[in-house]
Amino acid sequence: TYATPSPTPEKEKVAHFKGKKGSDGKFRVTLIEGDGIGPEISQSVKDIFTAASVPISWESVDVTPRIIDGKSSIPQETIDSVKRNYVALKGPLATPIGKGHVSLNLTLRRTFNLFANVRPCKSIQGYKTPYDNVDTVLIRENTEGEYSGIEHVVVDGVVQSIKLITREASERVLRFAFQYAQDVGRPKVRAVHKATIMKMSDGLFLSIAREVSKDFPNVEFDAELLDNACLKIVSDPTPYNDKVLVMPNLYGDILSDMCAGLIGGLGLTPSGNIGDECSIFEAVHGSAPDIAGKGLANPTALLLSSIMMLQHMNLYEHADKIQAAIFKTLAEGKTITGDLGGKAKTHEYAQAVIENM
Ligand code: NAD
Repeated sequence: TYATPSPTPEKEKVAHFKGKKGSDGKFRVTLIEGDGIGPEISQSVKDIFTAASVPISWESVDVTPRIIDGKSSIPQETIDSVKRNYVALKGPLATPIGKGHVSLNLTLRRTFNLFANVRPCKSIQGYKTPYDNVDTVLIRENTEGEYSGIEHVVVDGVVQSIKLITREASERVLRFAFQYAQDVGRPKVRAVHKATIMKMSDGLFLSIAREVSKDFPNVEFDAELLDNACLKIVSDPTPYNDKVLVMPNLYGDILSDMCAGLIGGLGLTPSGNIGDECSIFEAVHGSAPDIAGKGLANPTALLLSSIMMLQHMNLYEHADKIQAAIFKTLAEGKTITGDLGGKAKTHEYAQAVIENM
């Protein structure tokens, strides 16, 4: 499954954490349709959720950036909506090119302190890849490391980029990873690092991992060098199927895309950005401007992200029903989109999923 347990056990006691019900008895979920193919793939999710009678009402919001003091920022209504509903599903956002424009994806992660990026990669039966038994789960620290944006010119021709590792951010993502492993029944957590070279920064991450592991006696812990992990996963991913891999930001960014390659690429890969107060689920791929508006997009990654979201909200029955229909449709291979070698339009694939429910 793509289960995403809550980040901390205490938070599970907070009734509203996993979503908030409106007066109609349905959970309100913020929907950021996004750019490019975003509206098309979001429509598939909406149609399939309606057919599956998922008790959710969508609150669609716009994230077209406003320029405030020369910088792009997310509209306040969007921020308020995610804060109010605690859970959001997000389509891809194109990063505006030009000075003063920061990535809106990064801004969302920072605004809501979404500290853990959960990236499961599970083989999809019927879709031919070099391996048919991949089932990795990778958790990436989502707020610091090389992504802290601390860069400057030292002298002409020399720039410095700072990798920031803190005890606070490392400990919370490591605790989340151990808790996750325990909740979904994976027996091992493995920290992926490069502490042989980054002795202080990765060394700190690794030493905190060892400390945190003591609080989870039922979960085995070990560590592996990043380069070795890359070599081993592409040689044979099966030994990683019982583990949760946890690592600093940049390593997670790269290694998770590598794992996505093992199951057929980004069009099939979901993710969850988890924070203590709210969580945003999104496909890993971008806005695909080359095929936008043509009805060619594959909505599977956003659908699988919406399944992670349903599991996060304890709506397991609906999650299972939709997931089974997606896998059946893909395995049949009759009504699949062009990126998977088929001829179906986005809405035809969504209809096939509905018919398979
Ligand atoms: P992309 O993922 O949008 O596209 C790469 C290739 O994959 C394209 O050929 C595209 O057609 C194809 N593709 C992607 N998703 C697909 C789908 N669901 N179905 C079928 N084909 C699909 O990457 P890009 O072209 O590098 O980026 C385009 C824009 O998206 C950029 O502005 C980038 O910043 C943004 N982006 C956003 C996110 C996000 O919102 N999380 C992630 C990555 C890129």
